[in-house]
Amino acid sequence: MSACIFCRVVAGEIPGEVVLREPEVVAFLDVQPLADGHVLVVPRAHAAAVEELSPAQADALFRAVVRLAGPVRRALGAAGTTIGVNNGEATGQTIPHVHVHIVPRWEGDGAGSVHSIFPRTVEKKLPEVGAAIRSALGS
Ligand SMILES: [Zn+2]
Repeated sequence: MSACIFCRVVAGEIPGEVVLREPEVVAFLDVQPLADGHVLVVPRAHAAAVEELSPAQADALFRAVVRLAGPVRRALGAAGTTIGVNNGEATGQTIPHVHVHIVPRWEGDGAGSVHSIFPRTVEKKLPEVGAAIRSALGS
């Protein structure tokens, strides 16, 4: 039996309010929702971080997000959804199994944009950062 709570939900060992089951992906309601309709989309195979996903797993994961975004919005009468991933413990990821949050949003709901979580601690010039990332990509 896995120690990972999301692996256990995927395996049906822990009950979850599942909204979508696909060969590579399962989606269920967050048990501590930020808003009604807060869905978590997870790969069936355990992966702690986004960069551990295979291309096929990544494709399946984001296809499921795309498939769910409209129905989640319509089901809750929401004006939009914020879709996000905390990737790594330092980002606030509390369950080390990749999960995409889909959180319904309404005008005036008091929540900010993704940009609002950052205090803008930028120190480097864009060309320097671009070169570093291109180098890390091996291109
Ligand atoms: Zn897991």
